[in-house]
This record gives sequence, structure tokens and C-alpha cells, in this order.
Amino acid sequence: MGAMKEFFNSLLLKELFKGLTVTGRYMFARKITVQYPEEKTPQSNRFRGLHALRRYPNGEERCIACKLCEAVCPALAITIESAEREDGNGQTSRRTTRYDIDLTKCIYCGFCEEACPVDAIVMTRVFEYHGETRGDLYYTKQMLLAVGERNETQIAADRAQDAPFR
Ligand code: SF4
Ligand code: SF4
Repeated sequence: MGAMKEFFNSLLLKELFKGLTVTGRYMFARKITVQYPEEKTPQSNRFRGLHALRRYPNGEERCIACKLCEAVCPALAITIESAEREDGNGQTSRRTTRYDIDLTKCIYCGFCEEACPVDAIVMTRVFEYHGETRGDLYYTKQMLLAVGERNETQIAADRAQDAPFR
């Protein structure tokens, strides 16, 4: 009996029409896909994308080489070396001479950003970056500062919006 039913079902193309009904239903439904990269989905202001090092408005680096970010990083992705230097006010201050992040190790947990007492290392909304060799994803201090300079307006706006929680 089951075999007969199956035979008639296949003769009448029942499965095909069932499939076409589903196709037809979705043809007129509201579209939820986006045409990336022309269209983009909304992003949270807490999105954890590419890292950046920030400067103060006078151009001075925010980072004070406390190494909290390096200590807290669970992936051991951050390497910092530091030295004292003149701060221009007759005092010396500690600054990094090397600040590298190996993005092939990073798990984008955001701990470095949370640990930083001066909001120097931050995670931007930038997600469109790639590397073709392993070394391309090894970000040096100069590269991180450059990311910060390019995105400072967005970084500052996100922090102002999120201020009570940071
Ligand atoms: S996001 Fe997490 S894993 Fe990546 S560098 Fe920061 S602390 Fe390390
Ligand atoms: S980025 Fe922040 S936490 Fe890391 S060394 Fe600099 S000041 Fe300290």
C-alpha cells in the first residue's frame, strides 16, 4: 500500500509542487538578506573589531605602558616593551617602545580594552581587513596608531554613547 502511494505521489509530482509552494511563499516574503558589501547590517557601538591605539587631542599617545593589557590577554597576543622618556614638562614618563598584537592569536575577547586605565587600546568597528600571509596580521604600534587616527571620530562617539558602562 505504501509503495502504491509513493508511486502515485511521484507520478503526480507531489514533492515537486510542495517544493515550488515553499519557493513561491518566500518569493513574496520580506527579504532579510543584504547585498554585502553595498548594504551592511547595523552594528553595535560595542562591536569588537580591529584594535587601535589612541592619542590625546594634543597628539600625545594615551598609552602609559602599564602592561595591564599584556598581562590580562588570555591568548598572549600582546607584546610590549617600554622605556622612560621626557614628557616636555621637565618630567619623565613611561611610554612603549614596542606594542605588537598578533591577530592570528587574538580571540577578540575585549579584555585588553577593558583593562586599560586610560582608554588607549580599543577595539574599533573595523571588520573588513585581511592578511594574505601570517605576517600581515601582526600589527605593530605604528599600524595600531594609524588605525586609531583613521577611526578616532567613531571611537570617541562610541565611547561617549556608552560612557555610563565603561
Ligand atoms: S581582544 Fe582579548 S585576545 Fe585579543 S589582544 Fe585583547 S585581550 Fe588579547
Ligand atoms: S594600552 Fe592601556 S593597558 Fe595596555 S599598556 Fe597601554 S595604558 Fe596599559
